Amino acid sequence: MAEAAPVIEAVVKVCSTCGRFRHYDPADEYCVVCGFASLATECSCGRTLEYAMAEPEGGGLHCPRCGRDWRRAAIDA
Ligand SMILES: [Zn+2]
Ligand SMILES: [Zn+2]
Repeated sequence: MAEAAPVIEAVVKVCSTCGRFRHYDPADEYCVVCGFASLATECSCGRTLEYAMAEPEGGGLHCPRCGRDWRRAAIDA
């Protein structure tokens, strides 16, 4: 199944410091917003983060599986 084509798939990562979701390269480690190396590719419950890209910034944003409130975590940080 291995593809030889050097296509880099963008993945959604979230910064656990500021709570921002963005598309990143798989090798990216640093948040584009705050600069901390605290990116995660999935929630602590294992849920992937694609759902977050449909939400505008500024409102609430919770993990649909475990209910983690990403935006509140950002405010508290
Ligand atoms: Zn950040
Ligand atoms: Zn979760």
